[in-house]
Amino acid sequence: MRVDTPLGHERQIAGLWAAASEGRLAHALLFAGPAGIGKFLAAETLTAGLLCERGPGRPCRQCGACKRVAADSHPDVHIIDPLKEELETIPIKRIAPREGSEGQTLEEFLGLRAMEGGWRIVLVRESERLNEEAQNALLKTLEEPGADALLVLECSRTERLLPTILSRTVQVHLEPLAHEQVVASLVAQGVEPERVHEAARIADGAIGLAQRVLDEDWLERRAVLADCLRGRVSAWEALQALDGLAGDFPGRTAAAKARNEARATLDLGVALLRDAARLEAGLPEAAVPHAAVLGDLPRSISSRERLERVLVARQDVDLNLAPDAALERMLLALAPESADRNKKP
Ligand SMILES: [Zn+2]
Repeated sequence: MRVDTPLGHERQIAGLWAAASEGRLAHALLFAGPAGIGKFLAAETLTAGLLCERGPGRPCRQCGACKRVAADSHPDVHIIDPLKEELETIPIKRIAPREGSEGQTLEEFLGLRAMEGGWRIVLVRESERLNEEAQNALLKTLEEPGADALLVLECSRTERLLPTILSRTVQVHLEPLAHEQVVASLVAQGVEPERVHEAARIADGAIGLAQRVLDEDWLERRAVLADCLRGRVSAWEALQALDGLAGDFPGRTAAAKARNEARATLDLGVALLRDAARLEAGLPEAAVPHAAVLGDLPRSISSRERLERVLVARQDVDLNLAPDAALERMLLALAPESADRNKKP
């Protein structure tokens, strides 16, 4: 588990540690706020500070409990992380014992006594991925979590959670960072100055997203898409240019990496067309994240039909259809219609 007080959320976490010291910490918390701002890291840090032998408070990183937490071997922590496990949805068999359950379920874990005598903590990352059946099973646990049990749900799309889940958890709302904080953090990590500002601008306060922008070569991808949109390169040339980019994408297999790469590139295409529409509608450049590559575009480049074709291609990637074909269809949709040089040579 990573333990590193996330930038910008120190006050909320310290408040929760103080509540735990005074015996008034709620048993179910919902860490809500935009994606990529460090909510899960905040939940991990809260956990470490609750289990630390000198806690609750900032984890000392020296004691046995801190070392076990850092090594993912603490017996009183149970994490459901659909990103690490590559689960599109979190099924009920992870929450309550059902046919096909493997290993301990959340319910079984919370039914046990704490091995080290302190808190028993469950973290659920991207809890919006719990399907409805799983959410219903979770409700039972939320009604009677047991003494010293703590359930922390991390979520950026709370509208996907059942109202009964929302009403039974205490919401801890975490805010995005200021642009300057994201810039300062990237500079401190040694990112080249010419990439820092644009990455921070696209991330809009989400430091995790800024990291993805850099790791996955979004600035380079975006430049290729913008060139295709202007007709400076053909769809075919754009596809080759995208193939030539590296980028470090999540996924355990080459196919999973390729799918995540196509998703990111298609999402960028959607974002560019939406931003082009914003500029056409007269929004100031400061309010348009991708304005830097969209200046001087011909009018009506953001036609609705273009956007719809890109959105369909984007959906195909989620449906596990060939990611390369989806990318090619997006590039053909972006490229100006008159260009016959879009055909494959
Ligand atoms: Zn410690």
